[in-house]
Amino acid sequence: MRTDVLGVGFDDLTMDEAIERALTMIDTPGSDYVVTPNPEIVWLARRDSSLKSAIDSASIVLPDGIGVIYGAKILGRPLKGKVPGADFALELFARLAERGGRVYLLGAKPGVAEKAGENIGNKYPGIVICGTADGYFKEDGPVIEKINDAEPDLLLVCLGAPKQEMWMYENREKLRVPLMAGLGGSLDVYAGVVQRAPEKWQKMNLEWLYRLVKQPSRIGRMMRLPAFLLAVCGQRIRGK
Ligand code: UDP
Repeated sequence: MRTDVLGVGFDDLTMDEAIERALTMIDTPGSDYVVTPNPEIVWLARRDSSLKSAIDSASIVLPDGIGVIYGAKILGRPLKGKVPGADFALELFARLAERGGRVYLLGAKPGVAEKAGENIGNKYPGIVICGTADGYFKEDGPVIEKINDAEPDLLLVCLGAPKQEMWMYENREKLRVPLMAGLGGSLDVYAGVVQRAPEKWQKMNLEWLYRLVKQPSRIGRMMRLPAFLLAVCGQRIRGK
């Protein structure tokens, strides 16, 4: 049973539990995918039924930011904690490195996935970066073919939300990849193009504020957070 936050069901998992589940999926036939919605995506999914289907069809739905955690708490059904997508992938790399796991990196501007792959390879020797491609392609077909030929265990799809969720949902049957994860701007972080908030900020749950200071243009998107929290309070009052 998933925990409902404004119509989006979240899996109540710790980081370790999420990693174990992901590894099991990698070892099991089928094409699974992970999504990590933040309040902004939950908000969008309320009005976009295809996005909601894309999230509902994911095999793992993780709460990426503190906003969803607060939302679940206000609703009286607290989740175990946030599982940021960028950290989830790093933990998974560490485990895949132990067995020579193959990872394909899709997304971000030209050159970024290659740089991210180089850094990941240096940090987790044992991992095989079996391919990279930027996220500004026109046709899906050739990209999917390249990915399938590379035979990855894990495909990171970093096209930004909600594009990446829709892309995984619409193409999952054509992709012969046991596990995909939609991870927004993570490749920019792994490549060192974008810095994550210092650990102190992360611990204080102020990563969102750090991102806003660094990229003030995100203000429009972030204004969805108060709307999200208001709607959560409304859901609580209505007793749903
Ligand atoms: N991006 C992409 N293709 C697109 C649009 C965006 O590869 O058509 C990439 C963009 O270069 C960036 C990431 O998707 O690396 C989005 O980063 P952001 O931090 O905005 O992620 P979000 O907050 O949307 O999850």
